[in-house]
Amino acid sequence: MVDKSISIKAPAKINARLEITGKRGDGYHDLFSIMIPVELFDHIHIKINDSGQISLKSSGFLVPDDPSNLVYRAAKLFFNRAKIEKNGVEIVLNKKIPVAAGLGGGSSDAASTILALNELYSLPISENDLLQLALSLGADVPFFIRAEPSIATGIGEILEPIDNWPQFWYLLITPRVEISTAWVYQNYKMELTSNEYDYIRKSLKNGDIVIKDILKNDLEKVTCRSFPLISALKRRIMDAGAEGAMMSGSGPSVFGVFKSREKAVAAMDLFASDDLRHISVARGFLKKAV
Ligand code: ATP
Repeated sequence: MVDKSISIKAPAKINARLEITGKRGDGYHDLFSIMIPVELFDHIHIKINDSGQISLKSSGFLVPDDPSNLVYRAAKLFFNRAKIEKNGVEIVLNKKIPVAAGLGGGSSDAASTILALNELYSLPISENDLLQLALSLGADVPFFIRAEPSIATGIGEILEPIDNWPQFWYLLITPRVEISTAWVYQNYKMELTSNEYDYIRKSLKNGDIVIKDILKNDLEKVTCRSFPLISALKRRIMDAGAEGAMMSGSGPSVFGVFKSREKAVAAMDLFASDDLRHISVARGFLKKAV
């Protein structure tokens, strides 16, 4: 077999809205979420061979180089599902998306790995089956199969594309605090939500998107109470001229929305002397690159 390889870029995401709409018996939560892919990428190089082994080497932000890595798990699942006999793969992962940060890096890596392997083996799995496979790796993974601005409901797996999401620039800031997603959800107290979904859906369809009306994250109630730094960062981003600022996912990353790159970069400069885990300016991501 000739070694074949592919390089892919796995984008991060921000949640422009994250409402918890219910709690399921299995511990998962139902959501109404607006997920936007952004141009902050992990780089993945995948080379297939017939060694029967999955090997992984990673650099950048620290992740385990073992079978617990989502890239490894995605490759294993793909090979099982595709029933490829003489399989094997060498994966090189460069993590540029901060880990456990609310930016979806692990989920994106998993989706990109599945897509890349499907491509390298000449598409044995249909897109619908890929979405199922993705869901078995995590609730956010199906979103990254298409990686387009979407409303996500269910546990995140029911996806409706948003066709006219405006092109914004995002200031992404990850402070040096660690917050576990499980801890955030465990401490979230269900309450009646505003039920503005119809209004939000309508404004997204019409294209009359007022970003400050869209931005909402129910999980901030938990994180901002224990980590006032998150509220402070949001205030500073607003003072720096953002259209809106919010925490992404279960945090601790915070983002600001800007209408131009210049404004976002000028705001970033105001954080130059902060000791942060990560800061960058990223545009909304328009096309999945495989
Ligand atoms: P989300 O926004 O979906 O909650 P996140 O950005 O908070 O995701 P990830 O960066 O996806 O979180 O990582 C969550 C956990 O998964 C970490 O504990 C990390 O060690 C583990 N993990 C396994 N593989 C990866 C990977 N390839 N990239 C990042 N994290 C990984």
